[in-house]
Amino acid sequence: MLTIAIQNKGRLNEDTVALLADAGISASASHRKLISDAKGFPLHVLYLRDDDIPQAVAMGVADIGIVGLNEVMEKECDVDIIMKLGFGACRLSLAVPKSVDYPGLSWFEGKRVATSYPVILRNFFSEKGIQAFVHEIAGSVEVAPAVGMADAIFDIVSSGGTLIQNGLKEEETVIQSEAVLIANPALDAEKRADTEKLMFRFRSTIDSKGMKYVLMNLPKARLDEAVSILPGMKSPTVMPLADNDWISLHVVLHEDVLWEKIELLKNIGASDILVLALENVIR
Ligand code: ATP
Ligand code: MG
Repeated sequence: MLTIAIQNKGRLNEDTVALLADAGISASASHRKLISDAKGFPLHVLYLRDDDIPQAVAMGVADIGIVGLNEVMEKECDVDIIMKLGFGACRLSLAVPKSVDYPGLSWFEGKRVATSYPVILRNFFSEKGIQAFVHEIAGSVEVAPAVGMADAIFDIVSSGGTLIQNGLKEEETVIQSEAVLIANPALDAEKRADTEKLMFRFRSTIDSKGMKYVLMNLPKARLDEAVSILPGMKSPTVMPLADNDWISLHVVLHEDVLWEKIELLKNIGASDILVLALENVIR
């Protein structure tokens, strides 16, 4: 049976358990367990610290895992990144004290940079030909410049609020990260097939994110105009109504364009518009 490693607690735990649930797989969210069996799919779930997930998958202790791309890159383990999962977005950036008049990367020459991601940072500096001192610290990286432990930091940023609170400003984004599905490169055929099945389920829930199912009544004579308002989609579904001059139109719209399209459809006579949540899009 396939074994998946997921974060036991922390930022990725909840979204990971929710992704599994959307895919019809119930895994205990409890971080007191080390391993449990999921329901809804033949799967062992192994609960680990995120730092240990790339190695667990590389060693085959778990066959697949869900972890931040940042951890995968830092650990440099032999795993395949097989799918981006669309949550846990963040970036790894270099930040300097806000008083610095930053001239570009050359500023880092000879500077001390504190980070919990020394491998990614060393790789970046060596690629750019910058000689800097990389100081690995385990936590609270953002306070290092204020206490004189470093001149700058390299850390995870999502909103940037933590940097501002600590008198820092973000100057260089080194990687964009999100949660990814990783796999041991040597899975046997059966495990590979099970992984494909899981990916198929994940894909359908990820593809449905932000999508709405929209139904409306429309005068039949305005159908061509409605179709031209809804470009880039396969033809909308059209259902007859008891009144022959009217039809019911069904479309799937992304929430980013939902209100704009609804305005336009109302202008050509659409009424009784229903907007429904969409759980899965299976292509
Ligand atoms: P663990 O106890 O499992 O080692 P951790 O403290 O290392 O946990 P978390 O803070 O739970 O890690 O973050 C897990 C992952 O969530 C990060 O590696 C990153 O991929 C992602 N992430 C997304 N946004 C943020 C953020 N604002 N700060 C930190 N991590 C973030
Ligand atoms: Mg960690």
